[in-house]
Amino acid sequence: PRNKNLGLENIYRILESTPDSNKAKQWSKYYSSGPHLAGKNHTQAVWTKEKWESYGIKSEIVEYEVLLNYPISHRLALVERNTTSASTTDQEGIVNETGKKDKSGKDTDVEKVLFEASLEEDELPEDAYSQLKDRIPTFHGYSANGNVTAEFVFGGYCDYETFKQLDALKVPIKGNIVICRYGNIFRGLKVKGAQDRGAVGVVIYTDPADDYPDGWSGGGNGDGKPYPKGSGRQPSSVQRGSVQFLSIRPGDPTTPGYASKPGVPRTDEHEAIPKIPSLPISYLDAAPILKVLNGWGYQPEGWKKGGLEDRGVEYWTGPVGYKVEKINGVDVLKPTKTASTQTLLHLENIVEYSLTPIWDVIGVINGSISDEVVVIGNHRDAWCAGAGDPVSGSTAITELARAFGEMIKKDWTPLRTIILASWDAEEYGLVGSTEWVEEHRTYLMQNAVAYLNLDVATSGPWLDAAAAPLMYRVFKDAMKSVEDPLADKKRDLIHKGESMLPVSAALMPVLPEAQIFNTFNDRDRSQYLGSVYEIWNKAGGNMRPIGSGSDFTGFQDIALVPSADFSFRQGASGAVYHYHSNYDSFDWMEKYGDPGFKYHVTATKLIGHMALTLVESAVIPFGLTDYSNFLAHHFTTAYEFFNKTIKADDASDASVVHEIKWARLSLVRLSEQIEKLKSSTLEFDEESATLTEEINDLSPKLPWYKWWQSVHYWAKAKELNKKIQFFERNFVYEDGLDGREVFKHVVFAPGLWTGYAGAVFPGILESVEARNWTNVMRWAEIIEKCVIEARGSLSE
Ligand code: GLU
Ligand code: CA
Ligand code: ZN
Ligand code: ZN
Repeated sequence: PRNKNLGLENIYRILESTPDSNKAKQWSKYYSSGPHLAGKNHTQAVWTKEKWESYGIKSEIVEYEVLLNYPISHRLALVERNTTSASTTDQEGIVNETGKKDKSGKDTDVEKVLFEASLEEDELPEDAYSQLKDRIPTFHGYSANGNVTAEFVFGGYCDYETFKQLDALKVPIKGNIVICRYGNIFRGLKVKGAQDRGAVGVVIYTDPADDYPDGWSGGGNGDGKPYPKGSGRQPSSVQRGSVQFLSIRPGDPTTPGYASKPGVPRTDEHEAIPKIPSLPISYLDAAPILKVLNGWGYQPEGWKKGGLEDRGVEYWTGPVGYKVEKINGVDVLKPTKTASTQTLLHLENIVEYSLTPIWDVIGVINGSISDEVVVIGNHRDAWCAGAGDPVSGSTAITELARAFGEMIKKDWTPLRTIILASWDAEEYGLVGSTEWVEEHRTYLMQNAVAYLNLDVATSGPWLDAAAAPLMYRVFKDAMKSVEDPLADKKRDLIHKGESMLPVSAALMPVLPEAQIFNTFNDRDRSQYLGSVYEIWNKAGGNMRPIGSGSDFTGFQDIALVPSADFSFRQGASGAVYHYHSNYDSFDWMEKYGDPGFKYHVTATKLIGHMALTLVESAVIPFGLTDYSNFLAHHFTTAYEFFNKTIKADDASDASVVHEIKWARLSLVRLSEQIEKLKSSTLEFDEESATLTEEINDLSPKLPWYKWWQSVHYWAKAKELNKKIQFFERNFVYEDGLDGREVFKHVVFAPGLWTGYAGAVFPGILESVEARNWTNVMRWAEIIEKCVIEARGSLSE
């Protein structure tokens, strides 16, 4: 007999009544009051542990020793050099300072500084963090040391497509510095794209055009007036962030696949982090540099318009002095011979690398069932104050822990076990969570039911939801149970067409609600009036597939634990969110992000509902049919891509024709198996729905003759729950993805060239992209086996 004094209704009532906006504000202020960079936040780890313990949650600090870098100094300057002088770059690519002689004794004192970038964010009297003396300089996590002076080119978003375009145009990248625009893909993959082409350095700037709704930086354009006078972008704001090659592997780059405990062997980090230096800059610093490229190189077709035209930037590729010449009827980009000076970029990035302790905080609430575990986590480290990223998440988790504490006070023993986690070093590359997953992978694969993640829980009022398919239902039910504090206002905005999230479809593919929930017919939608669900649904009802870029990655892609993540963000007309900048501060949050801290409370309730439903439902409430529908939907996409990639002249090579034929046959077989899985999961979901109803109907006071029935039901639930719990684990492939073996999931992985946006069926997509038809067949067969096993697991 569980929870004698505390029925389920009371548990949910405590969740509803405990989270409080004043408390949220207090936690937000605590966590965001000063810098708390990875490996430099021990006091916050202790505070978190003590807080959880004060709520009756047994907690400990878990330490790992990981490779991190910290900023020492930096410089970025536009210089003019007399072409009659020798190059000042020695073999190592190290440039001697202006005014000195280089190794070979040649005079290097011929450089004129045209522009010196400030690399600083403005101190604002209205923003306390921005004035702190110990604030964190602008730099890139895991960036390489370097000091280079070179010609430079503009690479647009520096994503897969723009680099291909630059390759086709033969814009010289080798030996040069590439300037990239933030957006579209994870920043580290921009550096990788440049490095793979022989670039010697990368500069990434924030273009104000990407704050508009079709950009993705997480904010609208606000009232246009720059923060702090208004809610627009502060011109000096800089987006810091990791340049790890996240899609190759997350976590400590020196310990792929195992935990970074002191003394473990370590591998070369450069497979997973850059060899060339990089710096993040503001648009104020970028404009004078990009302007110099006007008229040189190309203005590539199809590139998205930037927001610096009023500052004279025309967005040419450069390099300076290069013009297109027609040679034998072909366009060739060549340096104009006449120039007596060269305009170069000097980039210096000095960082200190060391093995550093980091601290995860792990709390446990033991349930009646110990081998069914729900993990709830959020990171604690931040680049700056981090009021949104991650403090809004940490705040919500603190309030959730407090609510759990109220339940514990009333003798609550959850049905399943709960683990709470406060991760360190997420910002460098999901390090704290990945190391923990690597240490406990076997345990997680045998015991975990789900992982719930919060990162930027709140930077505005519009819900952006992402989840593994098994979790759609849980997510949707939680949304229905939570009130939206601004429902009326948002309903009006939706009517005016101002609802949409600033999320570009290309970056974050979405599945409309109708598609993902088509196995669940809602009765009367109006009964959810005023709920988070009503507004989310009206605003498009988009559920993103779980991609990457936050701590769910290790759980989902390495340990195959179904995960969910959400964020309340700014909408189309909302304030600009100064992501990874000094202005992601308490003052900004209080004024623009979440005035009144209402959505901090809403986020707490939403994740709380998901957690309680997962923990307390007799039958684990996963929708297995959602999974097979998801597979079917993405199989279609992959198959279309396969067909599109076959070229007409493939038909002229008999062996290619043969390979394509076999690849196609195996894809068709896979799709047949997915269809079979669909009918099995439909049947299974019906069975678990019936059982759920039967258990819900059991009166708490059972007459003796019904008792045997209850025992029978619970035994049946246990049997179904094991199948449900391990369903996702059928999609494991222990050898891992090609070239990135730490990723073990055949359905989900970070996109190889996107990072944030995930790839579905990565093995197939990447082999098709590489036109490696035998490998397409290999992956179709690997996945087919998983699908067959998944179906078999339901009928065992
Ligand atoms: N969330 C952080 C970012 O977007 C870290 C992501 C990662 O390194 O995987 O920069
Ligand atoms: Ca590791
Ligand atoms: Zn974060
Ligand atoms: Zn972040």
